[in-house]
Amino acid sequence: KKLGVAVVGLGKYCREELMPALQQTQSCFLAGIVTGHDDKKQEIQRQYALEEKNCYTYDTFDDIADNPGIDIVYVALPNAMHAEYVIRAAKAGKHVICEKPLARNLNECYNMASAVEEAGVRCSMGYRLHFDPYHQELMRLGQQQVFGAIKEMTLLNSMKITDPAAWRLNKDLAGGGPLMNNGIYCVQAAMYISGQLPVAILAEYLPATDKRSLRGVEEGIRWQMDFDSGMTAACETGFSKNQNLIQVQAETGWFELAPAFEYRGLKGAFSGGLIHFPEVNQQARQMDDFAECIIYNKPSRAPLNMGIRDMKIVEAIYESAESGKRIQLNLSEYAFLPE
Ligand code: NAD
Repeated sequence: KKLGVAVVGLGKYCREELMPALQQTQSCFLAGIVTGHDDKKQEIQRQYALEEKNCYTYDTFDDIADNPGIDIVYVALPNAMHAEYVIRAAKAGKHVICEKPLARNLNECYNMASAVEEAGVRCSMGYRLHFDPYHQELMRLGQQQVFGAIKEMTLLNSMKITDPAAWRLNKDLAGGGPLMNNGIYCVQAAMYISGQLPVAILAEYLPATDKRSLRGVEEGIRWQMDFDSGMTAACETGFSKNQNLIQVQAETGWFELAPAFEYRGLKGAFSGGLIHFPEVNQQARQMDDFAECIIYNKPSRAPLNMGIRDMKIVEAIYESAESGKRIQLNLSEYAFLPE
């Protein structure tokens, strides 16, 4: 059986990545759309030959409960709308994939978790890199200590934003700045590569170069994650330049990806040569895996609780940047690792 996926919010990520990826999936397919724009609806409906009964607006969204052709709702809206649509999807009895970050803050995350639990549905994060072969290779090299214990990591993920009206610059819509948007990939990768959870955070904001466009969010932030093993991860994210790198220094060797966090075209190297894999579609693999978790009742590699764990770290990073203090973390209940 193939599961039907309805995508909510026909934005850039959905139209350019998720919907094309759903043409390459084996265990799920594009079954419906939810959009507030009639022109986008018409265009997508035609392009993907979707029946009228599978096209919803934000007002008719809850009727999705009565549509047996839709098993999974994929929430790809601005971060401020994640909580509402994950909760409404769960109440409609549908399984959910939620884009990163899970929500704007921990309170929203906990409300989402309660709704998902009450409804007895599954919810996973749109963490596509868990399904990418380059990242899986870094997990193997790190977690299996192929070059001994990891000493230090550097993780940089920054994206230049040129549109001053972008929702990502608005705290009400985004919850936070580049940390929420790009930095979360550094947080994630430091944990899944090492197989360890951070125990302390020290962070500082970077000076803003374009204060006029920022509506309540940071322009850049840098932080260090400390781990019990003595390993440290130095991370940076921002909206004023492009950076895309993972570098790992272990006892007897090193490995790296640059670019590290893109959808395609990743490049890898290690102290003995190049890391190379054939190109895959990360999003197709991620959605297939979620569908197969439901069909075969398997645990997900990126469950909702992982999104909650990462939000705890994000909040600790902001708390440290605000206070200038080192923040201790106890994440022992969130040990999803190793993969
Ligand atoms: P986008 O701005 O391109 O699309 C947002 C969509 O939401 C649009 O269809 C827009 O019409 C709709 N929308 C509804 N209400 C809105 C409002 N008040 N303001 C703005 N848009 C509104 O954004 P995107 O880049 O597609 O991002 C959507 C989500 O996907 C975000 O949570 C983002 O973090 C996530 N994302 C994830 C990845 C990834 O690699 N996993 C990549 C890009 C985006």
